[in-house]
Order: sequence, then structure tokens, then C-alpha cells
Amino acid sequence: MIDDALSRDALRAGIAILHHLRKVEVFTSISSHDYAQQQTSLAHGYPGAALAFANLASLDPNAGWEKSAHAYLSESVGSGVSTNSWSNIFDGVIAQAYCIEMVARLHGGYRKARSSLNATALGQVEAMSREAEGLQGFIPSGTFDITSGLSGLAPYLKLVSGESSGAAHVAHMLTSLIANWVEEDRIWNPQPPGSAENFSRSPNTYAPVSCDLGMAHGLGGILAFLAVMHRANLAGDNARVAAVIAADRILNSRIVTQWGEDIPAHLAHTVPAVQEATRTAWCYGNPGVAHALRLAADAFGVPTWANAADSLMASSARRTPEAQGIQNDMSICHGAPGLLHQFHSYERRYTSRVVPTDSSRSPAMQILAAIGSCKTINDFVSLSSGPGVWEGAMGVGIALIGCTHSSMSFLDELLLIA
Ligand SMILES: [Zn+2]
Repeated sequence: MIDDALSRDALRAGIAILHHLRKVEVFTSISSHDYAQQQTSLAHGYPGAALAFANLASLDPNAGWEKSAHAYLSESVGSGVSTNSWSNIFDGVIAQAYCIEMVARLHGGYRKARSSLNATALGQVEAMSREAEGLQGFIPSGTFDITSGLSGLAPYLKLVSGESSGAAHVAHMLTSLIANWVEEDRIWNPQPPGSAENFSRSPNTYAPVSCDLGMAHGLGGILAFLAVMHRANLAGDNARVAAVIAADRILNSRIVTQWGEDIPAHLAHTVPAVQEATRTAWCYGNPGVAHALRLAADAFGVPTWANAADSLMASSARRTPEAQGIQNDMSICHGAPGLLHQFHSYERRYTSRVVPTDSSRSPAMQILAAIGSCKTINDFVSLSSGPGVWEGAMGVGIALIGCTHSSMSFLDELLLIA
């Protein structure tokens, strides 16, 4: 864990950022996203803000944070629900339903809105699963991934399955679908040329057909999904077989770099294995996949996966900021705040020592230095990519508070690392 003085600074800076964003009008005035997206997006809009404030209220109960949570949620729910687009955990009706369930569990309310949102969201999950079931050949990227596809729905299904037999049924159906997909080896994705340029720092970015190994869009995310659903008793028997296939493929792809064991961002179909390490982030790369392997090791009882995870996490911590490939990025997904969160969550959960001991390389120091270089919090908010949770200032606040307090760990569920 980071030292006391640094953690006090981190907590103070994190709360200052969230305090700055607690009014819907402030958030709206600096958001670069259009209004419709703000209203229904967990990643960039009001539901995500509500989630952050509702969790902060448990940490800091007398500051009225839950009022801000309710204000954001009312704006979101009042905007109505879109029923005809592909939704996911970060956007649309499923994001709204997930956030309202989480906030209602912490602070009550929303009885009517919850039941109608859940009915719509579960109907959409079922329709999306049936659509995916009918796909032939290689599956288009985005269909099964965490950030825009079916495996990202694990936290929502887990949350509502206890109360709804319909949700448990849909969860079972989805898990079998994803497990079969791994077993049938349709994990290769056709990539539009140039679609992931510079994302993965990997020489085979342009391979026409590839298998992403990371959390956000790849096999790491699938492994985490199977582990989460298995642990929640929502997976069928084939989840274990599929998890073994996924973990083996990830582990057999390992390379050795100057930092230690590493994994490439993806494999290319029919081309020799990628030898270049990816960037250090949740979405593509070591820290995210280390979390997935460790989670699966515990869920399915495979100690060798846990050892491999520790080794991948340690090599992530050894990288210098220049080698991380995430300079000047202030996002939870692929920036210093994300790395801060990944390291601390891993240490807290598995009591492994992974945060860099050299404090000048600590992600918390990198963030605090970036904040310190701005005159006001408003300058900092505009420096990050908007005010939202996923790539913006709110995520920075959550990561800074979360490195000293586990009560902000709702993020772990969303990232499928818990
Ligand atoms: Zn990312």
C-alpha cells in the first residue's frame, strides 16, 4: 500500500474532484458527449455519476453525497428508456438498470422504475443472446466483449438473479452460449484494417483475423466472465472446460520481456506468435489479464493460474512509466488512474505486493503531479477526457479514493476483477 502522506493527498484530491462534479449542471457544462448519451451512459454520463456518488456516501455519510446520486439518477430515469438499440453494461437500458439497482440497494427508493427497467433490460439481454446464438463462423468483434458485448453483463445478471428467476434463466443461457463459443474455437475476430491502431502497441495490429487476449475485448474478459458466473452458481458444467481452454491459450501465448513474463495484446490467426509486449492497462495487457487469471484460479481451484497471475502483475509493476504505454492518459480504462486501481485492488484482494516501491513511479504520484500542474480542478477536468467515470475526471476521483478505501470497490465488479 502507498504511504500515509501520499494516501492522505490522494484521498483529498479524489474527494475534491468528485465535489467539483456533484452538480448535474457542472457535469453537463463540461461534457463532450451529446445529451442523449449523458442520460443513459454509465461510462460517460449520469448513471455512472450516480453510482460513484452513491458509493462515496457510504464512505462519507454526512456530506449529502446520496442527494447528488439521486439527482443524477432522476435525470437519467426521467429521460426515458431506449428499447431498440444494442445495449451493454456501459450504455443504454442495461447500464441504467444496473446503476439504479446498485443505488437502490445502498440508499433505497425507485421501486417502480426498477421493475420496469429490469423487465426491459432482461428482455434485451435475452434478445441479444438469441441473436448471437444464430451467428455463424467467426464472431464479429464487440459481440462477446466486456465493454460493448455480452460478457460485460455479468455484474448486472449477478445482481438481479437473486430476485428474479427470469434473470437466473437468462444468465444460464448466456453462460452456456459463451462457453460453447470458446469450445468451438470461434474466438478469432475479423478486424477492420487499422481499427485498433496504437491501442495495443503490438506489431500485428493489422492482422485481418486475430484473437484479442485482453480484458476489454478478448479472451481475458471471457475468462473473467466465466469465473464470475461460475462463482455465482449461474454457469453450466461447460464453464470449467471453456475456462481451461481460455486460460491455456493465454498462458501459452506468454512472452518474456525485460520486465519479466508478459502477454501480447492479441494473437494473429495463421501468423507466428506476437513477440512485443502490450501496454500496461486493464483493457489490453498484463494487469487486466492477471486479475482474470487470479479470479479464475480461485473460482475453479487452479493454483498454477494464480502463480502465473502474480508473475504478470509483478512484471506490470516493474515497468517504468515510459514503458507502460499510457502516458498522459487519465482514464480508468487505460491510464494512470486505471493502473493505480488495478495495483491496489490486486494487493488488497490477494495480499500480494505489486505497487512499485519507487514512489516516483507510483501511478498515484503521476496523477497527483498532473493535478498539481493545473491551477484549478476545472483545468484538470478539461485536461482529462471529460467528466465521466470511464475515461474522465470522475474515474480519477474514484481511483484516488479507492487506493485508500475499499468502499469504492464497485469498480472491481464492473471491470470483472471481482
Ligand atoms: Zn482502454
